[in-house]
Amino acid sequence: MIQAENIEKKYGSFTAVEDISLSIGRGEIVGLLGPNGAGKTTIMKIFTGYHFPTKGKALINNYDVYSDSLKVKESIGYLPEMAPLYNDLTVLEYLLFICDVRKIEKEKRKEEIDRVVAECGLEQVINRPIEKISKGYRQRTGLAQAIIHSPEILILDEPTTGLDPNQIIEIRKLIKKLGEQKTVILSTHILQEVDAVCNKVLILNRGKIVARGTAEEIRREMQGDYRYSIILKASDIGSVKSSIEKINTVNEVLLFETKDNGLIDIKLSVKNDISCGEELFDWAVSNNFKILSMIPEKVSIEDIFIKLTAEGEEK
Ligand code: ATP
Repeated sequence: MIQAENIEKKYGSFTAVEDISLSIGRGEIVGLLGPNGAGKTTIMKIFTGYHFPTKGKALINNYDVYSDSLKVKESIGYLPEMAPLYNDLTVLEYLLFICDVRKIEKEKRKEEIDRVVAECGLEQVINRPIEKISKGYRQRTGLAQAIIHSPEILILDEPTTGLDPNQIIEIRKLIKKLGEQKTVILSTHILQEVDAVCNKVLILNRGKIVARGTAEEIRREMQGDYRYSIILKASDIGSVKSSIEKINTVNEVLLFETKDNGLIDIKLSVKNDISCGEELFDWAVSNNFKILSMIPEKVSIEDIFIKLTAEGEEK
């Protein structure tokens, strides 16, 4: 279990993380999503005991990261943004070294290494020097070191950064599999990663949580569930906008543009796509407008992210 109670982290007078509370249980994979500088790495470093919060409490399996930092380190597997690998060692030598660091008993080492090699698909590269393996295999080796002591909790900082599309798919599959048994928190600024891997997402901006829930819940909370894109022909353009805003299931007119050919391009945020579809047709017929095309669109996590973090980029 990963918990934070109103944590704050200041670097000097700069507040990097402000009033963050969260709770992540077993079998959950939670994604921290945010633009550069949002505070993702800072939160991860707090949970690993690398940084202490300046206010509030962070707990790993009920151990306080400050007062029980050794217990915390035993309970977690951590993959930092740059996997901590030694290039001149082979994968096997490196994993043996990690067994030493993690104080895994000598007679259990072979069994544990065989397990992580199988789980992370490292069989082909086990005897190769780390400097000669691909980025995907380096990342798998990083994951293998994070799980060699069978931690209940995994903390993964941007685990797919720098990988090619095939490697990304494989690492995501692996994280999902690990997440069935463990508690996982991962950071990312790749929006598709959240949909592909995480059960829940926390969107961070400037050190604060600005949205939380499943990707679906966040979509629903924002601007209704659906959007419609409509192309319309009307002789009385003036009355189109004012009357469309009065339709019950329309939340907001997001775009209203007259094209050179006289057609009107409309984008709407609506509460319910089925009843709104019906109402839009009735509205068009009763006003003598002609709908040339009407396409329902789901609000994407990209749209939400841009809306919530538009002011978040570091200057
Ligand atoms: P990225 O996606 O770029 O890795 P992030 O969301 O992980 O960003 P953090 O690395 O947590 O963000 O940084 C949050 C803010 O804190 C940034 O403004 C950063 O410049 C600042 N910061 C991070 N570490 C330190 C530090 N050791 N000293 C001072 N400021 C820091």
